[in-house]
Amino acid sequence: MIVVAGGGFAGLRLIESLRARDADLGITLIDPRAEAVFLPLLPDVVAGKVRDRRLLYPLSKFCADRRVELVCGRAAKLEGERAVILEGDRKVPFDYLAVCCGAEPDFHGNEDAHRLAYTLYSARDALRLRERVKAVAAAGRPHTFIVIGGGYTGLETATALGYLLARLIRSGTISPFFIRVVELAPKVLGGLPESIADPVRREVDHLGIRLSVSATIGDMNEKFVEIDGERVTDFTLIWSAGVRVVDFVRSIEADKDKQGRLVVDPDLRLPSSRNIYALGDCAHFEAGGGPLRMAVQFSWAQGPVAAENILRQIGGREPHAYKPRDFGYLVPLASWRAWGKVGGATVGGMVGSFFHYFMCIFRTKRCRNKIGIVWDLVSVRRRVGSKLL
Ligand SMILES: Cc1cc2nc3c(=O)[nH]c(=O)nc-3n(C[C@H](O)[C@H](O)[C@H](O)COP(=O)(O)OP(=O)(O)OC[C@H]3O[C@@H](n4cnc5c(N)ncnc54)[C@H](O)[C@@H]3O)c2cc1C
Repeated sequence: MIVVAGGGFAGLRLIESLRARDADLGITLIDPRAEAVFLPLLPDVVAGKVRDRRLLYPLSKFCADRRVELVCGRAAKLEGERAVILEGDRKVPFDYLAVCCGAEPDFHGNEDAHRLAYTLYSARDALRLRERVKAVAAAGRPHTFIVIGGGYTGLETATALGYLLARLIRSGTISPFFIRVVELAPKVLGGLPESIADPVRREVDHLGIRLSVSATIGDMNEKFVEIDGERVTDFTLIWSAGVRVVDFVRSIEADKDKQGRLVVDPDLRLPSSRNIYALGDCAHFEAGGGPLRMAVQFSWAQGPVAAENILRQIGGREPHAYKPRDFGYLVPLASWRAWGKVGGATVGGMVGSFFHYFMCIFRTKRCRNKIGIVWDLVSVRRRVGSKLL
C-alpha cells in the first residue's frame, strides 16, 4: 500500500504518475481539505480578478477518477515506519509513504499576531480578506492595511489590496486608506538581483504602497499595532512573514533544517527511513549549496521522480537521483506586472505578468478551471461593480 499524505502539487502529481504506470497499485491519499487549492492565484482572488472556485479541485473527484482511496483527515504522527496515525486516532498502514504536506504560515511564536492577523493560505483566507477590505472600505473611516513581510507573497498581497481598493473607488465612494508593507530586513527582496528587485520596489512605490524597511512590530491588540514604536490604529494586519512545516512533519523523527523541512537524500527518501519519501515545500533538497526554494515547479517535478523511485523499490531496483531544473521565478504584482527570470533571461513588466499567468494556467488542473481563469482574467476590466467585487 502506498500512502500519500497531502494532496497539493507534489502529492497529486505523484499519484498521477503512479497510476499512469501501474493500474493495480493500492494508493491512499490523506488530506484534511476536501479540495486541492491552487495557492499562487490566491492574491488574484483577493484582488477580485479570479473567482475562488477556479482554484479548487475536489479531491473526491480526483481520487474516484484514479481509483485512489481518499481519507479525509489530518495526519498527526507516525507509528514506526509502517502506519500514519490521524487526528482522532485512525490508523492508515503503509508499505511506502510520501510526505507532501506543504507548509503553513509561521507566526514565530507571536500569539497576538496569530490571533489578529489575516493569512493567505486557503481560498477561505482569500475570501475573508476580501470581505474585510470591502467592509472597512465602506465604513467611512481612514484605515491602514499592514502587510507584515516584504517577500514575494507579501508584495503581491499588498498590490492585490491596492487593486481591489482602486476598483472599489471606481464603483463608489470609500474610506481613505493606506497600504503599508513592514519588513525586518534593510531591503525588500534583498536576496534578488537589483535588476529585478529595483523595478519591483519602484512599481510598489508607484502604486502608493509604503515600504517600511528595517522595521519591527511591537505590541498589538484589537485597537492598535506598534510599528517601530509608532501606534497605528484602525488597521488590518496581514501576515506574510515566513512559513514553517505542519505539526505532522514536525513530529517525524528525522533530520530537519531550521524551518523544520525534512532533509532528503538525492532520491527524495529520508536517510533514516528507506520507505518514506518527502516532497515539495516540506522537504529540504540540497542543491547548489542551499535548499531548493519553495516553489510550484519543484513540487511538480518531484512527483514523477518519487513515483518512479517507489516503483523501482517495489521491483527490487535502486531508486535514482532527482536532478532539479530551475526554470526561473517571478515576483508577480496585481498591477499586471511581474519581474524575474524565465529560462535564464530577465523578464519584466507586462511580459513577466503574461509568463506568470501562463504558468498558472498551465499547472492548473482541469480544463474547466483553466478556461475559467482565462475568462476571469480577460473579462476583469468589465466587471467593476459586479458580484465578483
Ligand atoms: C499566496 C501564495 C502565493 C504563491 N505564489 C507562488 C508563485 O507565484 N509561484 C510559485 O512557484 N510558488 C508560489 N507559492 C508557493 C507554492 O504554492 C508552494 O511552493 C506549493 O504549493 C508547494 O506544493 P506542495 O505540494 O509542497 O504543498 P501544497 O500545495 O501546499 O499542498 C500541501 C497539501 O498537504 C495537505 N496537508 C497539510 N497538512 C496535512 C496533514 N497533517 N495531513 C495530510 N495532509 C496535509 C494540505 O491540505 C495540502 O492539500 C505561493 C504560495 C502562496 C501561499
